[in-house]
Amino acid sequence: MKDKRSLILWIIVIGALFIFVQLTYKYQFEKELSYSEFKNYLKQGTIRSVKIRSDLIRGKFINPETQSEENFKTVTVPDLKLVEDMDNAGVSYQGEPEKGWLSALLANLAPLIIFIVLWFFMIKQMQGGGKQVFAFGRSRAKLQSTKQSKTTFADVAGCDEAKEELQEIIEFLKNPAKFQKLGGKIPKGVLLVGQSGTGKTLLAKAIAGEAAVPFFSSSGSEFVEMFVGVGASRVRDLFEQGRKSAPCLLFVDEIDAVGRHRFAGMGGGHDEREQTLNQLLVEMDGFDTKEGVILLAATNRPDVLDRALLRPGRFDRHIVVPVPDLKSREEILKVHARHIKLNQKVDFSVIAKRTPGMVGADLANLINESALLAARRNKEAVEMIELEEAIERIIAGPERRSCVISEKEKKIIAYHESGHALVAKLIPNSEPIHKISIIPRGMALGYTIQLPTEDKYLRTQAEIVDKVTALLGGRAAEKLIFNDVTTGAQNDLLLATDFAQRMVCEYGMSEKIGPLTLRKREEEVFLGKDIMTREKMYSESTAREIDEEVKRIIEECFSRAEKIIKENISSLHSLAKKLIEREILTGEEVEKYIKKDETAN
Ligand code: ADP
Ligand code: ZN
Repeated sequence: MKDKRSLILWIIVIGALFIFVQLTYKYQFEKELSYSEFKNYLKQGTIRSVKIRSDLIRGKFINPETQSEENFKTVTVPDLKLVEDMDNAGVSYQGEPEKGWLSALLANLAPLIIFIVLWFFMIKQMQGGGKQVFAFGRSRAKLQSTKQSKTTFADVAGCDEAKEELQEIIEFLKNPAKFQKLGGKIPKGVLLVGQSGTGKTLLAKAIAGEAAVPFFSSSGSEFVEMFVGVGASRVRDLFEQGRKSAPCLLFVDEIDAVGRHRFAGMGGGHDEREQTLNQLLVEMDGFDTKEGVILLAATNRPDVLDRALLRPGRFDRHIVVPVPDLKSREEILKVHARHIKLNQKVDFSVIAKRTPGMVGADLANLINESALLAARRNKEAVEMIELEEAIERIIAGPERRSCVISEKEKKIIAYHESGHALVAKLIPNSEPIHKISIIPRGMALGYTIQLPTEDKYLRTQAEIVDKVTALLGGRAAEKLIFNDVTTGAQNDLLLATDFAQRMVCEYGMSEKIGPLTLRKREEEVFLGKDIMTREKMYSESTAREIDEEVKRIIEECFSRAEKIIKENISSLHSLAKKLIEREILTGEEVEKYIKKDETAN
């Protein structure tokens, strides 16, 4: 089908070129004569042959200037004596039929058509690297039959939780009928959320492999094309393909390229994307899981997705594919080392410890690099040295996909996060700690998650002060342990300052300023959601006072945090050490390490 289309298009291009060349050839070598000139030449006997149309006379004549035979044309004038004159001159003449409207139109449009075709050709070249130049409108979803895709869960290391959640879908794809009988409800769409390189595509393939069903993969960026409507038709084709080969798995990578929140960012909507998104929604609503088709999509930005995509009956199931922790990293390394000769001394647990922040793709790359290095050195097997060198290559190399952290940085981050956790634990008004992690995620190098025990609509002043104190705990710990501070606390400081400013300006919690609200509520402006305006409603001297108050609050909170950490320094050490070792600690574990220390004191 695809081939037929491109064939037809090629024929059109070549045909148009042919016509164009013919026309230009003809026109270029026709000398334009006035009618009187023509009559003169006719009298002189230099006209050789004539073709007559109602509006135009063409023919051959001997040009007196060059003395050679040339083509000419002239516009017809009503002339009853023309035939007589031609007979007298002995010129051979004939009538020419009027051109059909189609050929006339083609002749006029030929240059335009050629231009459009060439332009299209160039655009496609730029976009698609020159492949499948005329296959537009077709989904480029690649059919991977089960024989080709032998990927199974054995190839995916780590992410056990995700695998467990996806088990149900495998069962369903294996036997959709059985599920219908039991009346189980299977999600239509599942969203895999995770940073790039964490193995989302791999997981999708593995599901198809495990269930032994066809796998169609496609990418959101392919749906957003230059031409309005192309993306939508690609979406349609993808689903059509899916229905034809049900039960099967459809996979759309980078769905955020299509499914971006419709008003996100400047400039608002994008026609093509919106059409494509709408088509996707229509298709999702239109198919029934009974048909045995499951749509899997991947993104690393679930926050920018259009809400409509996330509604029940669409992508209502989210599965997080996390950045691998220590144990998972070791497993991933082992999976990729299956086909590589290894020296007996290779210890992947050591390598895993040295690669915090690396994702599956980085680790696969690491193994590959080390094998190349060993080959270059004519070694029989990969040794530790190669693996260690490969780490450096990946960290320093241009392909630095994710944020990889050095041993020293890891220590600083561990102390920073422990500082947050410790202070949060020991101040009265704080939410329980859910998890601390020093595996980088998004912009943050590490994070401490606190979850509230109940929904809160009001906050007391003491609670806000405690919150600010906990936010400053990270920096306080850095300062105490390393006698230096890093840029890592930037976001904490931003948040802390914001809280303090609100206390002074909005909540009236500063005695010096009094119970006033000194700034307008932030309002959305029409340009985009991200841009806020703040309007000042106070004098310069009040501004100075506000600044002083904010500074005082921050400083007081900071010294309070420092004091708490100093008094519990051994807790900080044991917490940080555990964190360096394990990278993720749960709330209960944090409690354990802090409590233990208190009893020891
Ligand atoms: P994503 O789709 O999340 O960007 P991919 O699935 O394309 O990531 O992963 C790229 C490659 O990284 C995979 O082909 C695989 O070789 C490797 N990889 C990623 N995660 C894992 C994992 N958990 N186990 C084994 N290999 C992995
Ligand atoms: Zn912090």
